[in-house]
This record gives sequence, C-alpha cells and structure tokens, in this order.
Amino acid sequence: MSDTREPILEVEGLTKYYESGGGVVDTLLGRSQEVKAVDGVDLELYPGETLGIVGESGCGKTTLAQALLRLIEPTAGTVRYRGEDLTAASDDRLRSLRKDIQYIFQDPFSSLNPRLTVGDIVGEPLDIHGIAAGEARTRRIDDLLETVGLSQRHAHRYPHEFSGGQRQRIGIARALAVDPEVIVCDEPVSALDVSVQAQILNLLEDLQDEFGLSYIVIAHDLSVVEHIADRVGVLYLGEFAEMGATGDVFGPPHHPYAEALLSAIPEPDPGWEGDRIFLSGEVPSPLDPPDGCRFHTRCPKVIQPEGSSLSQSEWRSLLDLKQRLRDADALESVTAVAESDGGAAGPAHLSRSALGERVREEFDLPSPVSDDEAESALSESIDRLHDGDFDAARAAIDDAFESPCERTDPPLYAVGDGHRIACLLYGEDYPDAPERA
Ligand code: SF4
Repeated sequence: MSDTREPILEVEGLTKYYESGGGVVDTLLGRSQEVKAVDGVDLELYPGETLGIVGESGCGKTTLAQALLRLIEPTAGTVRYRGEDLTAASDDRLRSLRKDIQYIFQDPFSSLNPRLTVGDIVGEPLDIHGIAAGEARTRRIDDLLETVGLSQRHAHRYPHEFSGGQRQRIGIARALAVDPEVIVCDEPVSALDVSVQAQILNLLEDLQDEFGLSYIVIAHDLSVVEHIADRVGVLYLGEFAEMGATGDVFGPPHHPYAEALLSAIPEPDPGWEGDRIFLSGEVPSPLDPPDGCRFHTRCPKVIQPEGSSLSQSEWRSLLDLKQRLRDADALESVTAVAESDGGAAGPAHLSRSALGERVREEFDLPSPVSDDEAESALSESIDRLHDGDFDAARAAIDDAFESPCERTDPPLYAVGDGHRIACLLYGEDYPDAPERA
C-alpha cells in the first residue's frame, strides 16, 4: 500500500550498537567489539495505523522499539515525530514529547511498581505532566480504569492482586492517561495465556478506534501481528528483511526468512507439519553478523553459483558444512565423531571412508552429490580432514562453494505496491526471479 498521507513517525537509518565487554586481553590490546543490535532501520508509521514488527528473539525488535523513544540512546539515525527530530531533542523537550508517544512493556508482572496502588500507577503520568490534580485526577483515573475494562474499586488495590491480563490492562490505562497519539507495544501479550491474549488485542483495537491511536506492535508471534497490524515489518539481525501490508506479507511472494516464520504458525491440528520449513543453525551473533545477506547462513533458497547442478538441499548442506568448518568450534564436532567411534582423539582414528560416511550423514549429503565438481571438492575436504589438516579442509570447501548471497547485501526491492523484500532473488539482475505480485 503506497501512502500519500504524512507519516506521524518517520525513522531513518536508526542504529544501535553496543560495546561488548570483551576479555582482559582485548582490553589491554585496546580492542573492542560491537553488538550490532539494530543496523540502519527505516520505517514510517501513519496516523491511525498499526505497524507490526516481527522476528525471532535476538533479532533486535525490543532494542529498535526502545531506541525509537530514546529509552536507550541510538548510535545513529533520526526519529521524527510530526517532523520534529526526537534524537536531537533536549531532555526537557523529550520528556514532553514522551507524553505523545507512550510505551507498553512486555512483562505486566515487572513493569508495575508493586508498592503503588493501581490508582497511583495510573495517576503517576498525570502528576509528571501536570495534567490533573485532586478531584479531577481521581475522576480521570476512574475513567481510565473503566476504559480498559477494570473498575473504580480496583484503584485502591496493589498490582499483585491482579491476573496477568488485568495487569496489562493497568499498563494500558497508564499509557492512555496522558492522551498519547502513538503507543509502542513491546510484546504486549506474549506473557499472557492464549485465552487472555485475544481480549487484550481486542481492547487495543477498540482503543485505537475510540482515540485514533497509532501503534507499533512488537511480537515474535506472527499470528499476533496478523490479527492486529495493517502493515508488517519482518526483522532479521537488526535489519528489515520484508515490509508490506499485512495481507501482502502473509501471502506470496515472500522473503525466505518470512516464509519460514509463516510456515511455523501453529495449525489447529497439533500433528500437522504440512510444509513447515526448518531453518538450519541458530540466529548468528550480532557481534559478527554474516557478510552479504545476513540470512545466507540459514537460508533454504541461498543462491547457487552459475552452472551448478546440485539440488538445493545438497547446496544448503554443503554451505552448512562450510560454515561449520569456519567456526572455531567446528573441529570439536569432527573430533567428537571420531571419539564416539572408539575413544581415541582426532578424526585420524576413523578410516577415511568411515569419516566420509559420518560427515555425509551429519550433513545429510548423498555419496556422490549430484555435481561432479562439487563432489570432488567435498572429497578433497574430507581427505584433508582425515589428514588432520583443517586449514586445507576449509580451503577446499571455501574455494569451491561460494554463493552471491555471501558477497552482496541486498537492498529492499519493491515487489508490489508498498511491498519490499531484501533478497537477491527479487533483484533485477537475477534471471529466475520469482513472480512478483
Ligand atoms: S539474498 Fe540469498 S541468502 Fe539472502 S534471503 Fe535471498 S536467497 Fe536467501
């Protein structure tokens, strides 16, 4: 959906890097490492809309949400609210702007001060911003509690007397107290029972209609954003992989990462596995994100070099082996293979053919693989592993198996009206680009 309206919130190049602790040797050598939690994110939020931001844990969602409001200071980038740059605002100005942009925390159990009554929790922002005092304050608190489905009598109780869903309602009442225009909801229902989740999402939707609110909703669960969002951004390792209207993101064409997340949405039949896409490996460390496309270490569709006749699953497995050999702890896994076969240390304990079988079995590779050149590189690498020459084993694989996805960081390509996907498969240069919407 292209939008001709002015965005209420406009984010450009938002970046948050953290210094990682590092060890004493790193410190002595003056070396430091940066965790690239959020890396140059652009987004817009339009009046009255809900933008969902999804991704696995560790993808940078919460850091992005907090950097938007400067709850943590961004490293670079701008956040404009109605044209005014929050990142350049003084502390006083920022405090006053935060009246318009509120934040609902993920955990309704720890985000409410246990020593305050519910009335004082909801009344606190009224005091901070000088909005109401005395009778007017009490009336406002009572109104807010009723608005979120609680009642006046709850004002004198303490948070521990409430269920998770009720506590999230208190958090919402507190956010509404200052009459905001934008609310950033950080995993607003992930700590709640499934039966209560729908009630809170419905409440958020009702409040949006009543007060014209705009939301950014952070979630790891796609079914949450499908329910509530007008547009969805899929975040991977601090960058957007896909962005578009909810219907477009939930339908093809997909970024391969979004496709895998969508395939994991539970079906009513718990035994159903359908076309579930299982990703290899873990989310890589944001300390050292992969070069090129950040998803290439796990992508089932990672592009093969020209002329390759490997099946896609063979290609993925060969890249997994290559990645394992590159990792510092890779050789432990190979050594463990040898040890499990008799207790002697080192892969040389196994015969060459036994080691080859074990490697192929571990990486689900046939013998031979379906491309002669690839087979000869794989065999060479296994030979060198058997010799204990790990550098040569790595080199044999590194030289032979290289994907364009390892070299080129794809921009967000437009694949439809307002629908963008950061994947080389959708680039103009890619000859077999999947069909666009
Ligand atoms: S660019 Fe390559 S690795 Fe990245 S998502 Fe597309 S196909 Fe996968």
